[in-house]
Amino acid sequence: MIVAIDGPSGTGKSSTSKSVAAALGLSYLDTGAQYRAITWWMLSNGVPVDDQAAVAAAAGKPVIVSGTDPAAPTIAVDGADASVPIRTEEVTAAVSAVSAVPEVRTRITALQRSIAAEAAGGIVVEGRDIGTTVLPDADLKIFLTASPEARAARRSGELKGKEATDVSATREALIKRDAADSGRKTSPLKKADDAVEVDTTELTLEQVVECVVTLVDE
Ligand code: C5P
Repeated sequence: MIVAIDGPSGTGKSSTSKSVAAALGLSYLDTGAQYRAITWWMLSNGVPVDDQAAVAAAAGKPVIVSGTDPAAPTIAVDGADASVPIRTEEVTAAVSAVSAVPEVRTRITALQRSIAAEAAGGIVVEGRDIGTTVLPDADLKIFLTASPEARAARRSGELKGKEATDVSATREALIKRDAADSGRKTSPLKKADDAVEVDTTELTLEQVVECVVTLVDE
């Protein structure tokens, strides 16, 4: 059983995907964490992230390992835990540029496919291009949406300190990142033709999870 859950940020993808995987006894893969991990490595190693050729040349260097337990997913780069540094504002601001580089996508897509192929019993994979490009034969494809206001409010709630109070700045940053992710040439953020679209604006996490679990059971 392979479930692909795509959509822009702040729609509840991660929480939904982890809960669905846990409820169904499946593995879980956060593909955004992998793009964040390669971006963090580029920033840490002095690779200019706006220089496509430099990013492409370095794309094969970091060793990225994802742990797929939905109760405790992990991400490591070159053997070190990267779960905290990949969530900084600096990484968030640079990740769209890095993930638009075709050599980065080719490498990370291959990694995602091998993780999905090895997941005994099945996996829930969340991202932007899982249903369209990474796993086009997934058993179920979900595309989550929500209003920009709901998404910004959720993201602000997840952030700590000063950033949390500034919902309008969060909203602007989200819209900018979506535009970059939707507008890139190589596998942009896009709903697969055969994906079920779920608008989460007015739904609780429990309601979204129930909806997806019901679709898996059908
Ligand atoms: O899901 P998250 O917000 O952590 O993703 C971070 C970024 O990684 C996205 O904004 C996008 O640029 C990139 N991404 C991608 N393809 C995916 C998952 C994430 O390009 N399948």
